[in-house]
Amino acid sequence: MNHAQPIPAPRADEAEVAARVAATVRADVRSLTAYHVPKADGMVMLHANENPHPLPAALRRTIAAAVARVGLNRYPDGAGDAVKAALAAALPVPQGAAIVLGNGSDELIQVLTTAVARPGAAVLSPEPTFAMYRIYARQSGVPYVAVPLRADFALDEDAMLAAIARERPALVWLASPNNPTGRRAGTASIERILAAAPGVVVVDEAYADFGDASLLPRVLEFPNLVVLRTLSKVGLAGARLGYAVAHPAWIAEFDKVRSPYNVNALTQAVAPVVLAAADVLSEQVAAIRAERQALAEALAARPGVTVVPSDANFLLVRVPDADAWFERLKERRILVKNFNGSHRALENCLRITVGTPAENRALLAALDETT
Ligand SMILES: *Cc1c(COP(=O)(O)O)cnc(C)c1O
Repeated sequence: MNHAQPIPAPRADEAEVAARVAATVRADVRSLTAYHVPKADGMVMLHANENPHPLPAALRRTIAAAVARVGLNRYPDGAGDAVKAALAAALPVPQGAAIVLGNGSDELIQVLTTAVARPGAAVLSPEPTFAMYRIYARQSGVPYVAVPLRADFALDEDAMLAAIARERPALVWLASPNNPTGRRAGTASIERILAAAPGVVVVDEAYADFGDASLLPRVLEFPNLVVLRTLSKVGLAGARLGYAVAHPAWIAEFDKVRSPYNVNALTQAVAPVVLAAADVLSEQVAAIRAERQALAEALAARPGVTVVPSDANFLLVRVPDADAWFERLKERRILVKNFNGSHRALENCLRITVGTPAENRALLAALDETT
């Protein structure tokens, strides 16, 4: 299996391959561009909403020991029962609610979209929001209805209710706190949307740990609520573990759509160890929240900069010239996310993940040098 020298292999004609691809793959897929993940080696990474703090050494040793015990010759537990038990023990999952695990919550967005994608179904979400809702709707051939947020990025409840009455969507996505704005939806608004929606309403709480509101404890109170969560933003982005919590009747259907061993054995071994060390993650989350406040004040003090109030681990900022800011930061090895040109409402907007104190100082110093 180990070829020191590349072996010249016969190759089909390039034009023939291109013609077969064009004749076979769906035109709408061919017209897509693959999700772009920038290379960030050696850069200060303030672009992906990760937790910037590594896990403490003692916890890493416990993780290493748990990983060493994994039988990699065997398939993982198909249901992920140990992970579900650890989630139920660490979080306010109400008794009687069911959980489905995903390879990141991204995968569950695809699973839920697939589960509702019958002819005539529509998917609806406020915008700007997380791009994957639209991308998976397109892949499933389901119309995607975007309802604009208000100019200050608050949820436009009246517009949402009107769109729900008009479109009768099978699925409503509500990221709260929202990405990339950082704002959360009011609980009363979410309750009215749940009451009005004929289908399922998924409240995507990817950033719930960085705010003070969650519908997780109330998930059984509504007949059509799914709460979607992930460990990615609190410190386990590399492990890829997302989960959805709902009434068992919903989860039973979503379970049929996911692939059989979607959460690998290494992640299943690591997640319970980290969830049992809840104090470590909550200290890191508290540090990020304190830094968010300091960074928001420092950025807002700059001329021409507006900072959107955030319940997440990032700040959306409007600056005088986002493209120029982005490039100048990149030259200084600092990567943020530039939303300029991606959506009308996000003109001159950058999304900046709250980093460590040292990373945030580096960001502010780079801005001092260049603006
Ligand atoms: C990051 C993000 C996700 C996806 O996270 P995973 O890493 O796939 O678990 C889902 N929803 C929102 C709103 C996000 O910002």
